[in-house]
Amino acid sequence: MKEVWFLTGSQGLYGEDTLAQVAGQSRRIAETLDGSGLPVRIVWRPVLTDAAAIRRICLEANAADDCVGVIAWMHTFSPAKMWIAGLDALRTPLLHLHTQANVELPWDSIDMDFMNLNQAAHGDREFGYVQSRLGVARKTVAGHVTDPAVVERVASWARAALGLAEMRSLRLARFGDNMRDVAVTEGDKVEAQLRFGVSVNTYGVNDLVAAVDAVADADVNTLVKEYADTYQVASELLGERLDSLRYAARIELGLRGFLADGGFGAFTTNFEDLGGLRQLPGLAVQRLMADGYGFGGEGDWKTALLVRTLKTMAVGLPGGTSFMEDYTYHLEPGQELVLGAHMLEVCPSIASGVPSCEIHPLGIGGREDPVRLVFDAAPGGAVVVGLADMGDRFRLVANRVELVPPSEPLPMLPVARAVWKPLPDFRTATETWLMAGGPHHTALSAAIGPEELTDLADMAGTELLLIDETTTTRQFTKELRWNQAYYRLAQGL
Ligand code: MN
Repeated sequence: MKEVWFLTGSQGLYGEDTLAQVAGQSRRIAETLDGSGLPVRIVWRPVLTDAAAIRRICLEANAADDCVGVIAWMHTFSPAKMWIAGLDALRTPLLHLHTQANVELPWDSIDMDFMNLNQAAHGDREFGYVQSRLGVARKTVAGHVTDPAVVERVASWARAALGLAEMRSLRLARFGDNMRDVAVTEGDKVEAQLRFGVSVNTYGVNDLVAAVDAVADADVNTLVKEYADTYQVASELLGERLDSLRYAARIELGLRGFLADGGFGAFTTNFEDLGGLRQLPGLAVQRLMADGYGFGGEGDWKTALLVRTLKTMAVGLPGGTSFMEDYTYHLEPGQELVLGAHMLEVCPSIASGVPSCEIHPLGIGGREDPVRLVFDAAPGGAVVVGLADMGDRFRLVANRVELVPPSEPLPMLPVARAVWKPLPDFRTATETWLMAGGPHHTALSAAIGPEELTDLADMAGTELLLIDETTTTRQFTKELRWNQAYYRLAQGL
């Protein structure tokens, strides 16, 4: 499990006895947080009382692979000029926790010793000032660590920190390039590596074909049995069309091996560029996504990055995360719905019930009929998130949605799908998404919410436009204009 370091600020002025009390109390705060079900381990570090120690621990946090973030709390007064060098060097996400050891004031016994020991109320103001003065990106959370609302906000930040750490080390393989003439799936891969850390590289699809062809028949047999045990497999796939299912298994094994050998956590395919592959990878992509890989269709590496990042952030949470595409609409006034799907590649982590494994013709791509999993997405709250390259910056666009069961069965639709109501309503959600230039490919997550996304965007220094129950078209249009100015100024002149 990754770590977050718990840093406590104080100063030498208080003397050994008081500093020992500070250490004991801050250790208990850290232990309480550590025991509250966060997706990271909270590691208490010794109380900081001078500039050299502060700078040293910030550099250590930068260098520690397991440390994805630091929480700082000024238990007492920590004169903040001591923090300048450390904060200036810190490259790890920061959460400023504004708390104190006790929940209640001991009204009948409080004296000046208590006052001098428990002074985060002004110690943290000194720290807030220097962070603002330096322009340090951080999340500020106030309240006692026994309050579930405080823990929830720290947890959102910790999940975002996990996502950022994943992006910073992610290797992404593209099989083939971008779909011809498509604009929104393009982007600046050098800028992405600078901003997010992800390394995006393209491989000839026949490199993958070689891996697929080299798979042993015995391994194919084993995987086909696993399919039969896991899904409702169409009888034709276990009978007269068994060869197609075996080839789908062969793709999965070859692709899985290629990704594992190269240390890749995400990948893309392109139906226009299949080389010697006999089927467009469907079932294989779906199962790899379910195992945590990021994926984007048609060479869309930005969405593959998002899917992998959100899956990492969602660790341990109920609800799945999938590659998704806004496909078609139900436009009955007041009852509007979005039907999302893709040609094949929707992740079964969002499925309601056991997927069925089927084979059907695919009108594009010009290959053999591909095998795929078919299911409806489970109902409930979710977000759809897109990443666009605006030329001078990346822009995240997110929409809160309510996944609903399809209004009627879809017996003729041979792909996995999700049906949702966008918030606040269809008109506002789609108009604002279009005004923002949000893409048609997205990551849909039933596990991650607006707060985690906001924390991630802040950590990555990336614009996020959130469309939720409070959004109005007029206000959103202003936000677009303000952001245009802000993000250009924030890059420097
Ligand atoms: Mn697509």
